[in-house]
Amino acid sequence: MSIEIVNINKQFGTFTALKDINLTIPTGELVALLGPSGSGKTTLLRIIAGLEVADEGSILFHGEDTAKRNVQERQVGFVFQHYALFKHMTVLENVAFGLNVRPRSLRPSKSQIQEKVQKLLSLVRLEGMAGRYPSQLSGGQRQRVALARALAVEPQVLLLDEPFGALDAKVRKELRRWLRQLHDELHITSVFVTHDQEEALDVADRVVILNNGRIEQLGTPEEVYDHPANPFVYDFLGNVNLFRGRLHKGRISIGSIELAAPEYVNTVDTQAVSFVRPYNIEVEREAKGPEFIPARLLFIRAVGPVVHLELKREDTDELVEVELGKERFRQLALATGELVFVKPKDLKIFIPEDYVI
Ligand code: ATP
Repeated sequence: MSIEIVNINKQFGTFTALKDINLTIPTGELVALLGPSGSGKTTLLRIIAGLEVADEGSILFHGEDTAKRNVQERQVGFVFQHYALFKHMTVLENVAFGLNVRPRSLRPSKSQIQEKVQKLLSLVRLEGMAGRYPSQLSGGQRQRVALARALAVEPQVLLLDEPFGALDAKVRKELRRWLRQLHDELHITSVFVTHDQEEALDVADRVVILNNGRIEQLGTPEEVYDHPANPFVYDFLGNVNLFRGRLHKGRISIGSIELAAPEYVNTVDTQAVSFVRPYNIEVEREAKGPEFIPARLLFIRAVGPVVHLELKREDTDELVEVELGKERFRQLALATGELVFVKPKDLKIFIPEDYVI
């Protein structure tokens, strides 16, 4: 079932929680709503579900306005951060719950329910756990029961609100890969709320980046990561260095150096800010040209395959974060306190009007 979100606005008193939200989710897509705390992700999910009413705008399921449908009629399955399983019920009873509470005329027979639950438990890889109680399961297992329970009623839309938020990092990673596989098998249109950038980029077909109740950018993980629309998205999706400077005739001067500006920049003579990812900064022991900025090495963290360096520019005293491959780090044989030279590359330039962070 496709979902169309048309011009949704939502206020809580004088506070604007969502502003002019427009988004179309085709059938079978897995979309992540990603944004910092308070950006409006949960509010939007609740409006899609029918648990919250928008002040303006509409939600269409398969082209039909949902306004007249109550929560049950929307055929939506939910999974929340806290498993919300019934503690006094076994896994089987939990998963069967949505089927057991149906009106008698729509309720499958006991044996049909049994069969369906067994199928779902094998889908979420919990065969053999039907008789256990939630307290006898790990966090990850409980969350898979919650998902099986949501799927039992054959929802047309699956809504997940930070479903793995309460789990430790390793289990989270496993479960999100697994969720992606499950989605590829079932093709249920799904909306997934997370504040974890890696999780959204890992799992989703498309990512919606929310900030202050507005959509900052919408795109595939590659699009939003490689071509951030504005400084907020650039900063939110990864570590970044800021180099302030001035654009003039296709070149940007940054402190003591001058570099060619990227081709997309056509404004002349204005203040500008270049954003540069830590892995896009070259480090040399000597200035190998006029484009190198002198910087003092303050800190080295050499754990894992990537070495993290923190440096202080000699020209402005600003800090620069750098990530180097271990091999390159060994070649350079650097120690803290040394004076080195850095050169930013792959600059992403924003002029001040865009610059909001
Ligand atoms: P988090 O990641 O922290 O859950 P979120 O992006 O999901 O954040 P929402 O829960 O949608 O954010 O909340 C958006 C804003 O609306 C927040 O500032 C929140 O305080 C406010 N808000 C949410 N629900 C209500 C409510 N019922 N009454 C008043 N304000 C609310």
